[in-house]
Amino acid sequence: MTQSQKVHRRAAVLSIGDELTLGQTLDTNSKWVSERLMDLGIKPVEHVTVPDDLDAHIRVLLRLAHEVDVIISTGGLGPTADDLTRQAVAAASGDVLVEDVISLEEIKAIFTNRKREMPEVNRVQALRPSRARAISNPHGTAPGIHAVIGDVDVFCAPGPPGELFPMFRERISPLLRPEPGRLVRTRIIGCCGIGESEIATRLGSLMDRERNPLVGTTASGGVVTCRVRVEGMMSGLEAEGLLDEAERGIRGKLGVHAFATGHNSLARACVEELKKRKQMLGVVESCTGGMLGAAVTEVAGSSAVFVGGLQTYSNGLKEKLAGVKRETLEKFGAVSREVAREMAVGGCAALGCEWCVSVTGIAGPDGGSVEKPVGTVWIGIAGPHGVVTRRFAMSGERQPVRQWSVTAALGALWMDLHQSDVKMLREQERR
Ligand code: AMP
Ligand code: MG
Repeated sequence: MTQSQKVHRRAAVLSIGDELTLGQTLDTNSKWVSERLMDLGIKPVEHVTVPDDLDAHIRVLLRLAHEVDVIISTGGLGPTADDLTRQAVAAASGDVLVEDVISLEEIKAIFTNRKREMPEVNRVQALRPSRARAISNPHGTAPGIHAVIGDVDVFCAPGPPGELFPMFRERISPLLRPEPGRLVRTRIIGCCGIGESEIATRLGSLMDRERNPLVGTTASGGVVTCRVRVEGMMSGLEAEGLLDEAERGIRGKLGVHAFATGHNSLARACVEELKKRKQMLGVVESCTGGMLGAAVTEVAGSSAVFVGGLQTYSNGLKEKLAGVKRETLEKFGAVSREVAREMAVGGCAALGCEWCVSVTGIAGPDGGSVEKPVGTVWIGIAGPHGVVTRRFAMSGERQPVRQWSVTAALGALWMDLHQSDVKMLREQERR
């Protein structure tokens, strides 16, 4: 095999399959592979997805071979006519396919273990470009391929995550050559109760693009994630030190809005805070139909602080279980500040807890009006200090609105748990 000695600084991740380009399957492999590359100090600079189309596949391989140091591809290694990775890599490296004797034995062995004979179609999976190496796959019938196009290493792994993950960890990762001493480390900080633009204003020069660590933000359904990335020639300790310093800077500017470091959820942050206070939480849900309670109970150990909830989808149950007054429902409608307030206060009484979060809203697609369009959601938070309500105007389809309502409710709870910000919430309520 023509060996490349290139240091792997910049990588491209290539996903192959009609199901991906047509939107039938979400490309989760690229995310996973990129995270592993980052762990190794190799920077993924591009993700490309191509359909099961030989020409498109070859074109992309040839282009990427001019732009990066290493290509990791997943998919297209199956036994059927639409699995074209073998041919594409052979063509792009100016090579021909040959049968790999060991691969063929391994594929046959997989069938023998399953007490079956190898179907003839699976024989093609033993093919590889003559100058490439096969990568053994103990978890399936698709061996991987390590080829070189120009002077760029190409590693092809099968699409099923159950085969890709072990192959990458055990067989591909040891062959990667990150620049010695070069590190890329990231950290994320979850923020709530504050918009992306307000965060940008507060962080100011901390977000300058030429800084290292570099700070970026991503907003999604009520949570803004601050992403911090440090890279360069340094030790892990130095990198962590720089990330710590950046995090202190961010937290200093965002205060209580920063609810977690890492992938910890808002629900977990609220549960931990309630544990510290030794206070109990209940929920009264309408448009989220139990999703809020589900989010809280996803947190291991939530039983220490969560009593449970009422699913009061109908007006009847809002009255009967949460003690919402009929006049309130008739006068203001189920989606209103007054009803959110009574649901939260009634929930505390009915469930016997210090804190109760209520959600009532119009998730759509029907039921909206000019005054209360689809996406109007009222959240009530009853706590030891009284009750606070907040109105949200969300946009999107039914399910995202319901999901966002859950995040909004937990965000409001988080903010309200921090007394210093209660004043701010009250002010928002008056508006
Ligand atoms: P293939 O190796 O192309 O035969 O892929 C087989 C299966 O792996 C597909 O049907 C998907 O279920 C899964 N798969 C392939 N590529 C991806 C990807 N990029 N992300 C997530 N799953 C994938
Ligand atoms: Mg495929």
